[in-house]
Amino acid sequence: MTQRFKAVLIRKDGDTQTVEDVELTQADLMDGDVTVAVSHSTVNYKDGLAITGRSPVVRKFPMIPGIDLAGVVQESANPAFKPGDKVLLNGYGLSENHYGGYSQLARVKADWLVPLPGAFTPAQAMAIGTAGYTAMLCVLALEDARVTPANGPVLITGASGGVGSVAVALLSRLGYRVFASTGRTEEEPYLKALGAAEVIPRAELAGDPRPLAKERWAGVVDSVGSKTLANAIASTQYGGAVAACGLAQGLDLPVSVAPFILRGISLLGIESVYMRKERRIQAWQRLAGDLDIKKLDSMTKTIGLSEVRSAATDILAGKVRGRLVVDLSK
Ligand code: NDP
Repeated sequence: MTQRFKAVLIRKDGDTQTVEDVELTQADLMDGDVTVAVSHSTVNYKDGLAITGRSPVVRKFPMIPGIDLAGVVQESANPAFKPGDKVLLNGYGLSENHYGGYSQLARVKADWLVPLPGAFTPAQAMAIGTAGYTAMLCVLALEDARVTPANGPVLITGASGGVGSVAVALLSRLGYRVFASTGRTEEEPYLKALGAAEVIPRAELAGDPRPLAKERWAGVVDSVGSKTLANAIASTQYGGAVAACGLAQGLDLPVSVAPFILRGISLLGIESVYMRKERRIQAWQRLAGDLDIKKLDSMTKTIGLSEVRSAATDILAGKVRGRLVVDLSK
């Protein structure tokens, strides 16, 4: 029997990119050994870039966007999964060269799937999504660099965004004194409820960076890049570490070598899309143990598939607070 399902499809004709809601059948799906009935996805910054076409995220057209998905296995040709298993997927080229999560049905490779941790519903796993899983990758990297709460406070930039909100919740729960930097100082009550000890205006870190500034942070989670990251590095304490995962302000990094050679600062690059499986599973296990579900729920808004396009524009404009879940049944 032909199964019809809803999806969002990006097409490109010359320089013109169009995004529409479509109905597809299983025959339209790409190759893979596991078919997942997708119940939830999410909107990350990268989804905003793909849907608006602002950056060349999509490598192959037509494309179903959505870098994350969660749902239930419907069919599997791989012994690692069986029908009924709950699963999630972050990255692995979804929305770049393989159909992604804005589709009620997805056919993917078993290797890409992570079993859904029992602590989370599919909706909560997507409230975490790539943004939250990346926040945990940053935390793991700081821990590997021997940053501890006893060493001093941590700075989180872009704190009201997806990576930032989850990082605030995680690091405060782990006992760190968290400084949350935001351009939306009206979000101070939100950030303090997530666990921030202090909220600082984005402008404090946005000026032209000096090679070295007053030592303030034992560790940093930066999702902003550019001058903000340069200022964060310049104000990191002797022996501290900075996890860099984002580019919301820009791709550039106007920094000197002074913090590295005079203070022994480590700059830790964080890449989530092709992260090895054991580290993914470790990150999800740690999220299950260290993320306060009530705080996760408080940072999450749920939208339907038809609202994904406007959400894409909003997230690039810095108008989304916390995390957006896409309920595929809506
Ligand atoms: P969000 O849009 O949810 O968060 C980004 C936040 O950055 C905004 O909420 C805003 O926070 C701040 N910001 C936006 N524009 C500027 C600006 N011009 N100057 C300074 N701050 C700004 O996005 P996500 O959390 O989904 O992603 C954050 C970044 O991390 C993105 O660049 C994304 O591409 C990257 N990323 C990278 C991954 C990887 O594998 N390396 C994985 C996941 C994300 P506020 O209003 O509080 O200032």
